[in-house]
Amino acid sequence: MLKVEDIHVYYGAIHAIKGISLEVSQGEIVTLIGANGAGKTSILNTICGLIKPKSGKITFEGKDITGVATQELVKRGLTQVPEGRRIFANMPVYENLELGGYLNKNKKEVAEDIERVYNRFPRLRERKNQLAGSLSGGEQQMLAMGRALMSKPRLLLLDEPSMGLSPILVKDIFSIIKELNQQGTTILLVEQNAKMALSIAHRGYVVETGRIVLTGMAADLLDSPEVKKAYLGG
Ligand code: ATP
Repeated sequence: MLKVEDIHVYYGAIHAIKGISLEVSQGEIVTLIGANGAGKTSILNTICGLIKPKSGKITFEGKDITGVATQELVKRGLTQVPEGRRIFANMPVYENLELGGYLNKNKKEVAEDIERVYNRFPRLRERKNQLAGSLSGGEQQMLAMGRALMSKPRLLLLDEPSMGLSPILVKDIFSIIKELNQQGTTILLVEQNAKMALSIAHRGYVVETGRIVLTGMAADLLDSPEVKKAYLGG
């Protein structure tokens, strides 16, 4: 479904991504794990069109999408939930969701899609008129995911969904991710929380200083001495 071939990304003179290749097949949850600054966010931002790679190629559902604008990719079924959530803090919950559906000019359909999101996240329905900035961290993460779902993505990119959440909420968010996947959404998940990510993923890639150093089935990575030592606390 998604194929990334030998991409290189520079920030000025900094060579942040040094030839990364990876694949995501339809129906999978694939996770990218790695330390702070390894380049995980840069990879997601390159896939979703926020950063242009200096070289390399990205293909989505058989079509070259290298350098294609983010908005066009959302139309084609590829949406990212960014790190830090980026919700509109001074707008109510429902307006944030409406914005997630802004490409759809059919108001009735947008209303139905919002209803679908409320069914998945009942907490958001209860708080639909509340300003998004006053939601708790976990609720904001639900809102960010709900907003992304408004565009009915076939491939969802998630950047650190567990960031800043309490262990119980982390569990909730991960079980929602698993459910979304079981209902047909393919997922590429970036996480610092390697243990949780590998426990729901089918496959994983380990990123270190702009390169992939290890890849395999998630269960094998969980068992791998290198991963245990570097990312699972020994
Ligand atoms: P984290 O888990 O901390 O978010 P990450 O693995 O997602 O880290 P990136 O955010 O992709 O890593 O950063 C990779 C490298 O690129 C880092 O060294 C970072 O400092 C650098 N970098 C990222 N964005 C920029 C930018 N806009 N300008 C300059 N350097 C950048």
